[in-house]
Amino acid sequence: MNDVSFIGCNASFEKSKVVLIGAPFDGTVSNRPGTRFAPNRSRLESDAIETYSPYQDEDIEFKQIHDKGDIEIPHGNTEKVLSGIQKAIEEITIYKKKPLLIGGEHLVSYPAIMALYKRYPDLHIIHFDAHTDLRQTLYGQKYSHATVMRRVTDILGDHILFQFGIRSGLKEEFEYAKKHQYIEIASANTITSIIEKLQDKPVYISLDIDVLDPSIMPGTGTPEAGGLTYKELLEALLTLKGLKVVGADIVELSPDYDHSNASTAVAATLVRELLLLLS
Ligand code: MN
Ligand code: MN
Repeated sequence: MNDVSFIGCNASFEKSKVVLIGAPFDGTVSNRPGTRFAPNRSRLESDAIETYSPYQDEDIEFKQIHDKGDIEIPHGNTEKVLSGIQKAIEEITIYKKKPLLIGGEHLVSYPAIMALYKRYPDLHIIHFDAHTDLRQTLYGQKYSHATVMRRVTDILGDHILFQFGIRSGLKEEFEYAKKHQYIEIASANTITSIIEKLQDKPVYISLDIDVLDPSIMPGTGTPEAGGLTYKELLEALLTLKGLKVVGADIVELSPDYDHSNASTAVAATLVRELLLLLS
């Protein structure tokens, strides 16, 4: 399964500064499953993109990045999945390396953030998504891709979550976000205004690719109209370049809903840009 590495990620684990790792889990999705196929399909598709980013004028091939393959996922046992992901991320952060996690559904961010929070108690989250992901429960489940950021804020507290592109959720989720966190609805225009606040703070970027408009990103389980363009998202990401980014993830790509494979190709370029942001 893991013979193929993401393009340009050829450093040994020992020499690497940034480590790519897959979490092919889609056990709690509310709508259409399939994100478990994202990590390896992204690796395959990465062969078709360049390792050089003209946006950042840097090349992942020269950045000492290791592709650690996928975390073993015992589907059907969410608790065990979450502890397994946390352990795998801790095995990266213990060496002061930075993880880039490829989901999988969005719940995989929770154990990754918990692993980083152990190391950085002052951790702040920048979250791109169509959805608030701030529900208390979904179908009676406390741990779900629709509750993931609520579980994060349960632990990390108020004013640590900065949400962009959000356009779907319950009224009470929006009210909670406005009161206790930071939320920008359906765009990322105000991202520059938070940069000063986050100077010198450890930052984790969580990128749910359904923040993009479905016309660009149909390959996802819960598409939501009115999303960001690729350029808007990229510009927002590049704004974060000066920050102390200590980890990131890219989640919710579901390759088989886009038979052209374009969604996977788009996601692969975002992986490249995130790897450079971490480097
Ligand atoms: Mn999400
Ligand atoms: Mn979403």
